[in-house]
Amino acid sequence: MLTRRQLIAGAGAGGAALLTTGCGPVRPPLRTFTYSVATKGAIRTSLDEFIRNAGATLSARQGWALGGSVAYRRVPSGGDFTLWLCEARLVPSFSSVCSSLYSCRVGRDVVINQDRWISGTSTWPLGLDEYRHYVVNHEVGHWLGLSHWASPGPGRLCPVMFQQSKGITDGSLYNTWPLADERRAVASRFGVPIWP
Ligand SMILES: [Zn+2]
Repeated sequence: MLTRRQLIAGAGAGGAALLTTGCGPVRPPLRTFTYSVATKGAIRTSLDEFIRNAGATLSARQGWALGGSVAYRRVPSGGDFTLWLCEARLVPSFSSVCSSLYSCRVGRDVVINQDRWISGTSTWPLGLDEYRHYVVNHEVGHWLGLSHWASPGPGRLCPVMFQQSKGITDGSLYNTWPLADERRAVASRFGVPIWP
């Protein structure tokens, strides 16, 4: 949700800015990625909720939307990547490097493991809503070109590109959203700014 102050600030900084009321971009995004949603196997959770939650994660300004300079638009089929809700036992069908225990990304396929989507992991401490943000951020982060990042050490926030699903054992802190350095890496890869 944008405050009135943010709307005004955005308009001032953007020149030809688009003023909107309520939620929504202050200025048009500079880069738009498209994605479709698909399922594989027996789905035992709400696909509508999956679409809604994942869409909210992708469009969140503090995430890979980089403050709104990047947009993610769902299309009926195809798109730049496909976001799968996948029955756990079928995740390895995308690649032998994928495990039925976790989510995975293979080429343009971003595969969310249904068991993790439904129940998170035993070690995740921040609740299911946060886990769902985390897992979409992590796997889409791979699609955006990032590999795994190291954990920063005790008391510091973990990158979303650290494998937090497998548990953090060095005292660094579970974290749902990309760190500033991670967002900078994506911004520089695609030549887009990070908007405040
Ligand atoms: Zn990963």
